[in-house]
Amino acid sequence: MRYISTRGQAPELSFEEAMLTGLARDGGLYLPETWPTLTQGDIAGFAGQPYEEVAFRVMKPFIGDTFDDDTFRAILARAYAPFGHVARCPVVQSGPNEFVLELHHGPTLAFKDVAMQLIGQMFEVALKRRGESVTIVAATSGDTGSAAMEAFKGLDAVSLFVMYPHGRVSEVQRRQMTTPAEDNVHALAVDGDFDDCQALVKAMFNDFDFRDGVKLAAVNSINWARVLAQVVYFFTSAVALGAPGRKVSFSVPTGNFGDIFAGYVAKRMGLPVDRLLIATNRNDILHRTVATGAHVKEGVSPTMSPSMDIQVSSNFERLLFDLYDREGAAIQQLMADLNGKGGFTLSQGAQARLREEFDSARCDEDETAAEIKQSFAETGVLQCPHTATGIKAARDMRGNPATPMVILATAHPAKFPAAVEAATGQHPPLPPRMADLYEREERVTRVPNDLTAIQTLIKDRI
Ligand SMILES: *Cc1c(COP(=O)(O)O)cnc(C)c1O
Repeated sequence: MRYISTRGQAPELSFEEAMLTGLARDGGLYLPETWPTLTQGDIAGFAGQPYEEVAFRVMKPFIGDTFDDDTFRAILARAYAPFGHVARCPVVQSGPNEFVLELHHGPTLAFKDVAMQLIGQMFEVALKRRGESVTIVAATSGDTGSAAMEAFKGLDAVSLFVMYPHGRVSEVQRRQMTTPAEDNVHALAVDGDFDDCQALVKAMFNDFDFRDGVKLAAVNSINWARVLAQVVYFFTSAVALGAPGRKVSFSVPTGNFGDIFAGYVAKRMGLPVDRLLIATNRNDILHRTVATGAHVKEGVSPTMSPSMDIQVSSNFERLLFDLYDREGAAIQQLMADLNGKGGFTLSQGAQARLREEFDSARCDEDETAAEIKQSFAETGVLQCPHTATGIKAARDMRGNPATPMVILATAHPAKFPAAVEAATGQHPPLPPRMADLYEREERVTRVPNDLTAIQTLIKDRI
């Protein structure tokens, strides 16, 4: 399988190269040149298999010969062993034909662990084999950074720098980033918002001297391997609910569009997905795009679901590539308009295709709190604020009641205790394996929103 850039100007890469590189040299994102498909029989055969085995079968066509079968199976086993649930991503019923897909049983209690744990192990094997080391920079609104810290801490071949917006992550998120003691991982608190952090990462990748000098790699959701790892749980959950004999819909709390794009990939591969619901908080650029066809940036407004406080939704570019018949030049123009003019309007054809696959709903702060409260009343289960936006979207846009609706629970409520407690009066406790988080020592460097200053710091530390 070869990988091509959404902007059409970068060299084609293998899976291993695309994984180790992250962002393409033309500013685009890598995608497989074709979507591999699974037969209905292949999908039916997933029933009753462990998560790791389904992961192996779903991902194998994408990774080609990057890892032989035994090595890949060993990587998967190591990646998911730290999860606190043997099903890895269990499905729990939350209402009539409505289900919650719990993606928060990993080491940092958010779905980012599902992909990051795997990437850590894949990087280690690939880099050791090549005799190389890399510097990873990651921008995070909270969950990516902590997941990356856990996945990469202690690895010899990787130095990791995580940039998060100072003061805009929850205390649990911050502590998960600032308490790992291993000296190859560094937390940087940036004076700016998440989009500033993301822009800094992009700028570092576009500075080719720096990029080559420090051997820069990215593990943000722009990294194809991360999106790929997330495709797996769309299959496991749908099969648990009757696929391929039955269609399933998904409601996905969305920020950078990586998670829901993985659902779109599962559909392209042959999974019978009915609707894909984009759930946003009041930072609703994607909801507005579905509703009006206009993809226009507004300021970011902090919410109780900070991992979705985004107006530049990087992985949306991957969907645009398909919506525009994989024309790199068209994507280049759209992205230039997004940067230069603050937005663009989809062509009629692209908008129609977007609506064929996706619905969307927006959930403001009061509605988020109300959903957390109502879910607790209905099920006795506390849900995190991100998940609550997904519940709202699922109920607003229910569609055919005979089609199972799966809501992705993207984080554990204990990661956002203040919001959960304000909504329900209940304090969500940390799982026992993490109970000492508040006693561990923090280590963080506060940095200005300044590319050169941060580049200098990185060069000094590696
Ligand atoms: C990252 C994150 C999201 C958004 O996922 P995207 O792939 O960026 O759309 C939603 N909820 C939580 C808890 C997250 O950490």
